[in-house]
Amino acid sequence: MKLKIAIAGGGIGGLAAALAMPRDSSEVTLFERAPAFTEIGAGIQLGPNVTRILKSWGLLDAVSQVAATPESLQVRSATTAGVLGELRLGQAIAARYGAPYLTLHRADLQGVLLEAAKQTATTVHSSRAVQRFQQTSDFVSVQTNATTHDFAVLIGADGLWSNTRQQLLNDGPPRRTGHLAYRALIKQTDLPMQMRRQNVTAWLGSNMHAVQYPVRGGEWLNIVVFIHGDAPDDFQNWDHTGNAADLSQHLAGCCTALRDMLQAVTDWRLWALFDRPPMQSANQLAQGRVALLGDAAHPMRPYLAQGAGMAIEDAAELGLVLNHATPQNAPTALQHYAANRWQRNAKVQARALRNGEIFHVTGPVRWSRDVAMKLMG
Ligand code: FAD
Repeated sequence: MKLKIAIAGGGIGGLAAALAMPRDSSEVTLFERAPAFTEIGAGIQLGPNVTRILKSWGLLDAVSQVAATPESLQVRSATTAGVLGELRLGQAIAARYGAPYLTLHRADLQGVLLEAAKQTATTVHSSRAVQRFQQTSDFVSVQTNATTHDFAVLIGADGLWSNTRQQLLNDGPPRRTGHLAYRALIKQTDLPMQMRRQNVTAWLGSNMHAVQYPVRGGEWLNIVVFIHGDAPDDFQNWDHTGNAADLSQHLAGCCTALRDMLQAVTDWRLWALFDRPPMQSANQLAQGRVALLGDAAHPMRPYLAQGAGMAIEDAAELGLVLNHATPQNAPTALQHYAANRWQRNAKVQARALRNGEIFHVTGPVRWSRDVAMKLMG
């Protein structure tokens, strides 16, 4: 008997879960609340821990075609522009880890995942919000705005404001971080020659940092500036037009090279950042026939560039544990998933938090950070 699996959410995590499910022994239905599968206009970095998984799913070529493969990651002081450290990416990292470090537009990644998911037996429904579920020892009944059906497993991949999580854990909304992200995409040809970049650059300042990297085969540059500030009122929609004048107030003390680059951007989008404390137990990842994945389970600060990476790792692990599962023993398989994943996710959440603290230190500690990074490389 095939394992009937429902997935709530068709973001990067939900689509990855659809791809990871065992092809021969499962029947997958994915419900996406939005009328169309769209990703916000921004970039994403994928480390070899993630591209290795995409490779195992046969997707690395398709993803590489729309990505950029930066040669290095350079850390620079936002105040002096001096280089504090450099990590070789490109061939060096691909040879070391057996998979590349890629930077790409989110919509391009989502497009590859969606096309691949459609080629599996996954049934994909848009405009279907998962509203409620009810589980018994034999099945989980999933109610959307249009239908109610029984499944062996429900995977909640419905993001930061996950409905599935609220029903499963009832632990309230994610927390405000007090950090905001200004994001922009700009065509490299619209920038003066000296500002065009094909590497990843992180600029570390006081109470701020900025990251830039190429996407779309290197033709576009993704820029994101993280500052401290209050979340806009309508924060659940996250995406607001950003005001360049507001941003520039936070750049006092930044070097000319960084300020000139940021001033070349005309269209900013402003996002408020939310997270949850690092996971504390396997119980937060799965209970009975319901499992959480990605931001629904462990939303983190984006300071390790691994949120989507962890969602894809979660998906791969779910695929492994459900490979030989039956409708009867599916809850045991989900317990294995939770046991195998929660500590890794907690560690990455904690590292991302710590990175944010290091990136934003002020006063003499900032000076010590810069000296230490320069000495240690
Ligand atoms: P989401 O992308 O939020 O997808 C959830 C989906 O569920 C959405 O499509 C939504 O419409 C749908 N949905 C919601 N409710 C329901 C419902 N009730 N029923 C059905 N569908 C529903 N990560 C990286 O790995 N690398 C990076 O470089 C990186 N950079 C980042 C930079 C910034 C500024 C930010 C904010 C995050 C960054 N991240 C990065 C993190 C990454 O964006 C997220 O971790 C990732 O997108 C989470 O994917 P998800 O599928 O879990 O959730």
